Amino acid sequence: MDRRERIREIAESICGEHHEAFKKLVEAERSGRRVPPQEGGCYFCYTVKNPEDLVFDTEFDAYVHRECIKKGLAEGNPEAEIMSYLLE
Ligand SMILES: [Zn+2]
Repeated sequence: MDRRERIREIAESICGEHHEAFKKLVEAERSGRRVPPQEGGCYFCYTVKNPEDLVFDTEFDAYVHRECIKKGLAEGNPEAEIMSYLLE
């Protein structure tokens, strides 16, 4: 197997796992469980609702909703201030 093929295989396996992991989170949330950031839920609201609004923050190593950052900013939340670069 050449290098390029190997890289593609690794990339596909990561995407596949991510997809499975995310489906599990959505199922957990449907059943009413809160999803903490260490499991991939939003840093602020502990949910994975509106997944298209989720962005990844490398400072806190957590997913966060853009909407939740905006809400945090309005409330003067210092963590939201740090994450505000994600809104740009
Ligand atoms: Zn949120």
